[in-house]
Amino acid sequence: MTIRTALLQGAKLLEEASVTAPRLTAEVLLAHAAGCDRTWLFAHATDELKEVWWIHFGRYLHERTKGKPTQYITGKQEFYGRDFRVTPDVLIPRPETEHLIEAALEVPAESIPAKSILDMGTGSGAIAVTLALELNTPVTACDISAPALRIAAANARTLNAPVHFVHCNWGAPFSSQTFDLIVSNPPYVGRHEQLPIEVRDHEPGAALWADDDGLAAYRQLIPDALRLLRSGGRLILEIGSTQAAAVSAMLSACSAVEIRKDLAGLPRVVIARRP
Ligand code: GLN
Repeated sequence: MTIRTALLQGAKLLEEASVTAPRLTAEVLLAHAAGCDRTWLFAHATDELKEVWWIHFGRYLHERTKGKPTQYITGKQEFYGRDFRVTPDVLIPRPETEHLIEAALEVPAESIPAKSILDMGTGSGAIAVTLALELNTPVTACDISAPALRIAAANARTLNAPVHFVHCNWGAPFSSQTFDLIVSNPPYVGRHEQLPIEVRDHEPGAALWADDDGLAAYRQLIPDALRLLRSGGRLILEIGSTQAAAVSAMLSACSAVEIRKDLAGLPRVVIARRP
């Protein structure tokens, strides 16, 4: 069995199971099994597959056809140009969330004079670590999930990012007017929304679901955030595509509430300034 044949067979199996991007997924899974990158596979297409690779590859294909996301099989996801470790304890970072990073990086430097930043519900730590590295400043990150914080801390360590982690529910333990910038990608999926099996059955429910209307987390975190922000500080939130009006209404105490769209043209990021 050559690498080429293995990839063909793997892609066929995935396609039959209606997995999206079957060829690419087969390549990613075989590269993971062989401990190499995809480029190496292309350069060695006619090499014989080692038996141990075949065994791992077979297991990964099986897991993927059963709905396990590729990122939980390989244990990683790229976000804003860096590889983050992910396990089923954390949400897989999404490309949409990079818009939140872009919005945070646009905040004028004079608005974050002390560069005091909080990420609420950090999950894998993707947002906190990225901001710490891009802005070259310490970031505080909190989460209610201890297993998620362990992954986030491992990511901060591996990527050498100065992030201080706190185990808590939203902003409870922090004192008023501490932060210049607060960011969050909270759970925002409503109870009746349909999610792909990969998401619904494999990603952590606590990072996805937020009561009936998907707004429960905003109801908790927005008052906390407004208490913790310094005057003039910014709050930047990821939102579900139908939540712009409802979340803006919760921010009526703020000046200059702005909504940004994602690449699909859907409302995705809310930026608010505390007066
Ligand atoms: N964007 C995620 C999804 O559509 C949801 C993430 C979240 O609730 N913050 O699956």
